[in-house]
Amino acid sequence: MSLKSSLLVVLASGLAMLAGCTEHTPPAAIAGAGAGADTIYFGGDIVTINDALPAAEALAVKDGKIVAVGNRAEVEQAQKGAATRMVDLAGKTLMPSFIDPHSHYFSSLTVANQVNAYAPPAGPAKDIATIVSELKKFRDERKIPKGELIQAYGYDENAMPNGVGLTRDELDVDFPDNPVMVNHVSMHGAVFNSAAMKKFGISAATKTPPGGVILRRPGSEEPLGLVMESAYMPIAASLPPPNAQQEIEWTRAGQMLYAAAGITTAQEGATVKPSLEAMQRASAAGANIIDVIAFPFIYDFDKILTDNPVETWGKYNNRLKLGGGKITLDGSPQGRTAFFTTPYLTGGPGGEKDWKGEPGFSEDEVKAFVKKLYDLEIPINIHANGDAAIDMLLRAHEYAAAGSLDKDRRTTIIHSQFVRPDQLDKYVQYKMIPSLYTEHTYYFGDTHVLNRGREQAYFLSPMRAAIDKGLRPTNHTDFVVAPLDQMFVMWTAVNRISRGGEVIGPDQRITALEALKAITINAAFQYREEASKGSLEVGKLADLVILDKNPLTVEPMSIKDVKVVETIKEGKTIYTAK
Ligand SMILES: [Zn+2]
Repeated sequence: MSLKSSLLVVLASGLAMLAGCTEHTPPAAIAGAGAGADTIYFGGDIVTINDALPAAEALAVKDGKIVAVGNRAEVEQAQKGAATRMVDLAGKTLMPSFIDPHSHYFSSLTVANQVNAYAPPAGPAKDIATIVSELKKFRDERKIPKGELIQAYGYDENAMPNGVGLTRDELDVDFPDNPVMVNHVSMHGAVFNSAAMKKFGISAATKTPPGGVILRRPGSEEPLGLVMESAYMPIAASLPPPNAQQEIEWTRAGQMLYAAAGITTAQEGATVKPSLEAMQRASAAGANIIDVIAFPFIYDFDKILTDNPVETWGKYNNRLKLGGGKITLDGSPQGRTAFFTTPYLTGGPGGEKDWKGEPGFSEDEVKAFVKKLYDLEIPINIHANGDAAIDMLLRAHEYAAAGSLDKDRRTTIIHSQFVRPDQLDKYVQYKMIPSLYTEHTYYFGDTHVLNRGREQAYFLSPMRAAIDKGLRPTNHTDFVVAPLDQMFVMWTAVNRISRGGEVIGPDQRITALEALKAITINAAFQYREEASKGSLEVGKLADLVILDKNPLTVEPMSIKDVKVVETIKEGKTIYTAK
């Protein structure tokens, strides 16, 4: 948008406000009269995520951008042309589409070709019979030929009735001719049927490698199905990468998972060189329907920087952008591998006493990586869950940013789940962004209470405290760890209810609008894209989502039931619910 037209917008909206707005006729912001919009939306709630004009009656789109938003009469008068498509929302809600602050996009390419074996509510797998029937449905719908490998993802034996896990036997009944791998939710194992064991050479004669698990039939050496860790990893690594045609097909299928969740900007949260190259080939072939932002991981960072000079970072090329670098400082609090200053109440994962977790990198390595990225002026995403890992990153920042501690770098702390109040103050001082993870209040809230005690668990992903201190927190799924479901993300931020029914930190609950900002405008800010995305304002991209209900006005407990009806990327519909 030119300076002149942006002045016009300010003028137009200012005049409309001066003209006296009532509750029923909100003011309009309009890009210039008589343009003839491509589309005008009306007839439902329009949630703008713009505090200056929070609600509107109509929104006009032209050439992929928003050209007017406000009261219907003014928007139509200024923008309705002979060819304008008038879209009646019929009571549904229009808002900016979601921006994913942290997930693992590249996994979506394979997941799109696999059966969902997550336990409810993330998936249908309530028991073994359901896993088998979902596999059969997938095979029959996709007409998968005999001999071809079929995979599922998200399987967790702990979620099966009585903890009795899936074995080869239940799979063999219906899959005598197709190898089947039901991958474990940890991504570190799978249950194999007999055809898959034959394909990958697992038999009674196979020795279990050190650090590996091959479950055996009681009283025999015959493998029972579950293969984990070092016995599984080489098999996973041996699976063939997609060919060029599959790269494009799988990209579209993976991005449709995001589009179906109302997301039009996705994060690839720890990118290695082969995945980036596949993403770049698919992008060049025009496969992308949404924007993808990649964060090369520390291991491959230098190689990727050699191929992609620093001046190419931070800009989209065929909808793919190198957003910054990524380093992971610790593990997960539920796995008791997050790094804390105080011990876990339940010991370590291997039965260790006085266990505080351990960092994944030495302090010197962290400092060197942060300094390198700051010197290159490349943004950085840092995974840190425990307060000791967060102390480490704050020290690394103080070392690397010496002399300009408060420069606007959009340094983002991924998860920040067990951040202390004094560390939040440092985030404010150093202009850091916490990308929090409130879904943990539901999935692992009860576990965190046991591991860390109620006081710490209740300050898990402290949205209220972060916002009150003036931060702009975002909120993520960490897909494939949790499914792509933004209404569930929002529901957990507003309600913070655990699986066991306990409110995990009642004073950290936030309003529905604040929860929406975390996955729209704040996420745009995290990526330095707040001028073009994250709210419905004239001049921004027409990245939109239509929901069946208004998540700001439904009962807070019903937020998770709000459905995505349609997703629009730059004015073009990319997903419509069946
Ligand atoms: Zn992650």
